Amino acid sequence: MTFDAPTLIAAKRDGHRLPDAAIDWLIEAYTRGTVAEEQMSALLMAIFLRGMDAAETARWTAAMIASGERMNWRDLGRPTVDKHSTGGVGDKITLPLVAVVAACGAAVPQASGRGLGHTGGTLDKLESIAGFDATLSTARLREQLAEVGAAIFAAGALAPADAKLYALRDITATVESLPLIASSVMSKKLAEGAQALVLDVKVGSGAFMKSAAQARELAQLMVELGAAHGVPTRALLTDMNTPLGATVGNALEVAEALEVLAGGGPDDVVALTVTLATEMLALAGLDNHDPAATLADGTAMDAFTAMIAAQGGDLSAPLPVAACTETITAPAGGTMGEIDAMAVGMTAWRLGAGRSRPGERVQGGAGVRIHRRPGEPVSAGEPLFTLHTDTPERFGPAHAELDGGWHIVDSPASPPPLIIGAIP
Ligand code: URA
Repeated sequence: MTFDAPTLIAAKRDGHRLPDAAIDWLIEAYTRGTVAEEQMSALLMAIFLRGMDAAETARWTAAMIASGERMNWRDLGRPTVDKHSTGGVGDKITLPLVAVVAACGAAVPQASGRGLGHTGGTLDKLESIAGFDATLSTARLREQLAEVGAAIFAAGALAPADAKLYALRDITATVESLPLIASSVMSKKLAEGAQALVLDVKVGSGAFMKSAAQARELAQLMVELGAAHGVPTRALLTDMNTPLGATVGNALEVAEALEVLAGGGPDDVVALTVTLATEMLALAGLDNHDPAATLADGTAMDAFTAMIAAQGGDLSAPLPVAACTETITAPAGGTMGEIDAMAVGMTAWRLGAGRSRPGERVQGGAGVRIHRRPGEPVSAGEPLFTLHTDTPERFGPAHAELDGGWHIVDSPASPPPLIIGAIP
């Protein structure tokens, strides 16, 4: 059957379902370049506004998987398991997590992405480490997984349709769509071939899903897509109203992840790392291991160091430091109230930690350090936030984003729970 893009765009614009064969054609033709970027932009906006039902989303996901290769680790000698976050602010969890899970005996083949909108990307963070290379051949990936138990790599040949769509959504205001997020996440993760998956579905101001009901729907959809492809999948819903940890920005977050791997670091980063590792190890059949112990006894740090070295990274080289900083101090004493994750994410983005054009270079040292986290006592005049950038003309717009995103209150409110729910 032959199709043409204008007719399919009009069908979705007018609220109709896209037939299976039309979805297969669209994804294949777009990946090959015969459906133009302008046409896919219009279709994405129509999908954003009209949605896709569960069957359309399943077909869209399968077509994206079929756009590239699908890996298989069955003969690796270790169970494979991965996690994916739907994107948040200060979410550096992947870094300590893959090391913890590898130290417990599983292998984590983690295909990762770059920053999307105001959220950071794991590859951007890791590329702030001197020499780190995220492009691995399948043969090198297999060797590294067998020897080290973890690899974080650019999706490359996996779901190439997603790589194109992801970049296009980022610049056409079509990111926050439930079927587009579900198919993007699951196409990469199913193509990557892990035998089990844990999803961290973020909820709140700094997440793409603002309400628990939306996040639950997204989680359910992704869990069903995993099951339909024979991959046991469990989703946790976790809070993203507040940034995770005390740093947002590429090198700043790597430094914080190293603190966690050294047995310290902020409580929420440690708690979420251990909770997600526990879920991953249970799905991998390795629940007799204690993930927290690997942080305390240094074995997770050893696994992280081995992974970074295997990918050419040099952890003894200094991480990039931004050329300029500005500090916001407390106008009065009291207690730090809520800190809005979206405001902090946008501030880091304005400072140069994210991109506003595809392919733009991000600043390794740019970002925000949070000195007082919600519930902590504050004295008048003390530092609350430090903004980091190489380009001082960015300070004005960055301050404007952060303004109103935090408050000092008289008495501490209890922080929202970090783990909101789980599916199934
Ligand atoms: N993570 C992804 O891989 N894709 C999205 O669309 C959102 C988060």
